[in-house]
Amino acid sequence: MTDAVKFLDKNTARLITSNQVIQGPYNIVKELVENALDAGATAIDIRLENYGLDKVTVKDNAKGISLSDVSVMCKPGYSSKIKEFSDLESLRTYGFRGEALASICCISDVSITTKTEEDPVATTYKFNSDGEIVDKSPSHLNQGTLICVQNIYHHQPARRRILLSAKATANTQGFSKTGTISKIKSYLGALGVAWPFVRIFFVHGGSLVWKKQSVPIAAGEPIKTALGEVLGHNLVSNYKVIKSELDEWGSITAVLPTKVGVVNETCQSTKSALILIINKRVVRHKKIEDVLMERFRFRFPSIGKNRYPACVLDLKVNQEDLDVNLEPDKSKFMMRSAKEDQLLEAIQTMIDKFYDEEVPNEVNEVVEPPANKRQKISDQETAISSVSDSQEEPAEKSSPAATFKLEFFVPETPEVPETPVQPSPFTLSEPSSEDEMEDTLKDNSLLSTPKLPEDIEDFVFSEEDEAALLELEKLVNQSDSPVTEEPKEAEAPMEVNQADWSRGHVPGSSGNFIEGCQLLVQPKAQQPKIPKAKVQNDRRLSLSASPCTQMGQNNLRAFNMFCKETRPKLLKDRPNMGLCEVAPLLARLWKDLPDEEKEKFGQMAQEYKLSKLNNSSVSNVYRYVSVFPGTTIS
Ligand code: ADP
Ligand code: MG
Repeated sequence: MTDAVKFLDKNTARLITSNQVIQGPYNIVKELVENALDAGATAIDIRLENYGLDKVTVKDNAKGISLSDVSVMCKPGYSSKIKEFSDLESLRTYGFRGEALASICCISDVSITTKTEEDPVATTYKFNSDGEIVDKSPSHLNQGTLICVQNIYHHQPARRRILLSAKATANTQGFSKTGTISKIKSYLGALGVAWPFVRIFFVHGGSLVWKKQSVPIAAGEPIKTALGEVLGHNLVSNYKVIKSELDEWGSITAVLPTKVGVVNETCQSTKSALILIINKRVVRHKKIEDVLMERFRFRFPSIGKNRYPACVLDLKVNQEDLDVNLEPDKSKFMMRSAKEDQLLEAIQTMIDKFYDEEVPNEVNEVVEPPANKRQKISDQETAISSVSDSQEEPAEKSSPAATFKLEFFVPETPEVPETPVQPSPFTLSEPSSEDEMEDTLKDNSLLSTPKLPEDIEDFVFSEEDEAALLELEKLVNQSDSPVTEEPKEAEAPMEVNQADWSRGHVPGSSGNFIEGCQLLVQPKAQQPKIPKAKVQNDRRLSLSASPCTQMGQNNLRAFNMFCKETRPKLLKDRPNMGLCEVAPLLARLWKDLPDEEKEKFGQMAQEYKLSKLNNSSVSNVYRYVSVFPGTTIS
């Protein structure tokens, strides 16, 4: 007898199981949002700080929680959703295990503010790691619940470190900082399609990542309108909704693309583009995905390997034929095999019938290219677009969501640079009180363009500086590597196939191919090392222009200061000079400037920044101006 098998103490055992249920901030958000929906929410507000590792709050306008339930709701094994195992056969809710809140309490600090219809005021409860109430105070909240989770994994620095440092690569899918945000956004988007009438706000670090308005009740096809909130209404106007019944045991609703152009435009490298919903649950199911992709590839042979077009399959089946109790996050399901076969066959038949009979002539049509793409297409190429879409329904007015449609399904596999997430052009100021948070939910007018820290604002490039930078780069490149002109080939008649065209691979008017957006980043070894904190502050710069990354931040600031100082003088001396001419001139002057002068502009920029930070007078930063030959201060 070795006596090696020991009873694990309660805390160790709980921590182990909790870590399995809550693998990262994504699971916290998923569990809290699903609880809100189970409670009948029609508006859900999700906020994250530091990628969810410092704070996650989820607020809903559902029924609230009564005092008697609050005292047990965070204890393991307590659920209001089922009473016995057989209830799983008629489950109508996401939750049933009664372990999410208990697990979250175990790994973080939890407080819950809630108010039911009967409560005169809201109450905030604080919980310990055993899910017991340790503090209680009156609070301010309309009917509903706000759950605040802080200091996630504070007892497990190793996991925190891993989550903070992991890159969004294949083996850490969704468990990295950036992976977390894209995974949550992707999940909320799919959930938003499953719940068209629910309004969802997702904010990270004070910036709105994604929002979905509630679809108007009168909207004809709510699921399609909801998909429009995710992909953009323009794109979704090229989708159609089809329905099919399953011999009294279920139904299939699909939202499918009708044109090859849309298929190519919405294709992503992750299966999350295929939104699969079963009984309102967002799930993954390999066999269904395989059938879908097989039919898509048959119709649209241009779909590349490991590419998935955006579409929706919304399944409703008898709950008794379904088992969702497979994965800790209930993202997979099992079906009785006879029913599963029927379902797969029905999906295949439905899709084939749709493309054969309902839109037989449309599948090969391309879609109108987005405006910016079209601007660059020559006359010859516009002839191609003019053959398409002649009978198309008028496109719906584009919503803000359309502006980040391509970011929605962020690939899980490729590496995402560890830059701060700033996918939306909007910013929400973090509400300091419940009142403000309430207002945020009510009033979209709070959305505003991002406000950068003052010191950065002054160093953001004007369009003209951008032009000067590009000019400068051209000059530098010319002098570094003299361009030898390639003999021009005889112009061949242009042949463009639809797949290439839809990807933008079309010879432009200049004869060059119109390429997708490229980041001009130097090889790693040559890149200036920028401390992490600085990258955070300089995000506008890093987002604004590729030359920034090539010049180096300090050089860039120096050049920007030089432009700021020199441009007015140039324009004063040469009043007839156009802005287009100023930019190359500035670039040339900068290039010819001795290194020590450049350095001085760098110091000026630095001092200027510091003076702004210290809120002191900016006048002293001009003291170096006179070093630039011929420049005087007026
Ligand atoms: P489960 O969802 O499996 O029941 P949870 O730990 O997620 O387990 O939640 C425990 C209970 O807390 C739920 O059964 C529900 O009664 C209550 N609850 C949790 N979140 C909310 C909410 N936002 N609104 C109302 N009740 C809630
Ligand atoms: Mg739950």
